[in-house]
Amino acid sequence: MTAGDSVAARAPAKINVHLAVGPLRPDGFHELRTVYLAVSLFDTVTVAPGSGLSLTVTGEGTGAATGAAAVPTDSRNLVWRAAELLARSAGVPADATIGIAKSIPAAAGLAGGSADAAAALVALDALWGTRASRADLTGLAAQLGSDVPFSLLGGIALGSGRGEQLSPVLARTPWHWVLGIAGEGLSTPAVYAELDRLRAAGRIPDGTELTPAERVIAALRSGPPAALAAGLCNDLQAPALALRPALRRALSAAADAGAAAVLVSGSGPTVAALAEDEAGAVRLAATLAGAGVFRTVRAVSGPVPGARLVG
Ligand code: ATP
Repeated sequence: MTAGDSVAARAPAKINVHLAVGPLRPDGFHELRTVYLAVSLFDTVTVAPGSGLSLTVTGEGTGAATGAAAVPTDSRNLVWRAAELLARSAGVPADATIGIAKSIPAAAGLAGGSADAAAALVALDALWGTRASRADLTGLAAQLGSDVPFSLLGGIALGSGRGEQLSPVLARTPWHWVLGIAGEGLSTPAVYAELDRLRAAGRIPDGTELTPAERVIAALRSGPPAALAAGLCNDLQAPALALRPALRRALSAAADAGAAAVLVSGSGPTVAALAEDEAGAVRLAATLAGAGVFRTVRAVSGPVPGARLVG
C-alpha cells in the first residue's frame, strides 16, 4: 500500500449505558431500547487501490488471547461485506487493498466489527469517489448490522428497533470510564440465546416491559456521575454472567477498586467501570491492571465522534 494512494478512516468502540431487551420478535431479532456512548478507543481502516478485495488485520484480537480466528480476513469480515455492499450500491467494482488496525478487542461487546465496517464505508467512499451522502451510508450501515449506524454516527444516541433507529442525545461531556476485558470473547448470539433460555425458565423478567431510558438520558445530560451510576442498566448482564461466571469476580474487582458503578458492556465480556473524573479513571485503570482479573485494561472517555477520515 503506498501512502500517497491510501485513505484511512477510524471509528470508535461503544458501550451501552442502557440496554433494555424486549422479547424475541418473529424476525429473529429482539426489540431494543438502548443508549449508546461512543468512547475513545478506535480501530483504523486504511484502503488503497487494488484488484479485487484483499484484507489484512493487525493489532488487538489477532493474537492468541482471543484466538487468531476471532477476526476473519475473508468475506466473513464485516469490512469485506461493507466493501461489497458499497460497491454494489454505487455501481463500481469492489477493488481495494484494505488494512484494519485493531485497538478494539474482538467479541468483547464493544462493537469492534461494527466500527470497522463504518470506517470502511467512509474510507472506501472517499477512495472510490462514490460521493454517498451520510444518509446513504447510514442505510448501508443498517444492512450490515444493528450497531453499524451508531458506529457511523458516534456521540451518544438512543437506539430503538434492533438498535439501528437512532436519535442523537446531547450531553454534558466527557464521561470517564475504565474498560476491563475479562477472558476470551463472548458470542453475541449465544448471549441472546441464553437470555431467551433464562426468560423461558422464568428465572428473569420476560422483557415485555422495556425499562425506559429516560433516567439515564437525563443523567447523561446533567450529571453528576452518581446519577448516571444509578441509571445504568443492561438486560444482557444476567445471561453473560450465566455463560461466564468468572465475570462476577471481574465486576466485584472493579467495584472494590472504587468505580462509581460497574456493568457488563453489551454482550460482554468487557466490564465498564464508571469513574468520577479523568484522574479517577487513571487511578482505577492502574488498580485494575494490577488486579489480575483482566486481560486488557483501558481508560477511555466519551462521547467521541463516529467514523471519520483521518490523516
Ligand atoms: P456486537 O457488535 O455484536 O456487540 P462485539 O462487539 O461483541 O459484537 P465484534 O468485535 O464486533 O464483537 O466481533 C464479533 C464477531 O464478528 C467476531 O467474533 C468475528 O468472528 C466477527 N467479525 C467480523 N468482522 C470483524 C471485524 N472487523 N472485527 C472483529 N470481529 C469481526
